[in-house]
Amino acid sequence: MARKPRDYIIKLNRKLLLLAGFLLFIMVNVLILRNYGATKTFSHRSNRTIVLDPGHGGIDGGTGKREDILEKDINLDIGLRLKKQLIVEGFNVIMTREKDMSLEDLSQIKASRYRRDLDARRSIIDSNQPLVYVSIHVNSSKSSSARGVKIYHFPGSEDGKELAEKLAHSIDTHLYHQFLKEDSLRTEILYEDFYILREPKYTGVLLEAGFITNPEENRLLKDEGYKERLAYAIKKGILEYLD
Ligand SMILES: [Zn+2]
Repeated sequence: MARKPRDYIIKLNRKLLLLAGFLLFIMVNVLILRNYGATKTFSHRSNRTIVLDPGHGGIDGGTGKREDILEKDINLDIGLRLKKQLIVEGFNVIMTREKDMSLEDLSQIKASRYRRDLDARRSIIDSNQPLVYVSIHVNSSKSSSARGVKIYHFPGSEDGKELAEKLAHSIDTHLYHQFLKEDSLRTEILYEDFYILREPKYTGVLLEAGFITNPEENRLLKDEGYKERLAYAIKKGILEYLD
């Protein structure tokens, strides 16, 4: 038996109304859950600190040539980009320097300028009790073919090694594979008894962002998009380590 058209329309509308009501119910629930999750994550992280340590500064230019570009300026640029990105994620970010300056005047110890500069960096790291810290540097080599990011952790530090691995994987994925479309490039993980890895009480790594002596990487380290993406990859790696 065929229904009367009028009946059919009323039944269809009821079905649509029920369906719309059900969808609304689901959407409201999803929104509530998402907001709850986001607030929780944010407040969870807002009292957590990360220290960024752009190497060199002031009279200490690091590697590079004044007439071309100096390491200290690249380190600071990457550090400031990373700081901005980490703040967006809800972290409290402390930098050992935010300007072109060396830090020896902040140290009380009697030692060389270089040693007092490092002591000041250690002191800033330890006094802020960070979840992690990252020292940012740029490499150089007599061989112009040497290239790629290298990440150092303290010998035998399991946490340092794990942080280095997460960062390396993130850089290979987000910078080399996705951004440069280079599948043969790999971030190298190394360990070394550096003062800035040995002395602070907290987990950290030293990241060499590339070779200023490699023509292609020299060009990339001056490129805003590249440095922004490198900062993004470092942030992603830190997030993965902290998860
Ligand atoms: Zn350096």
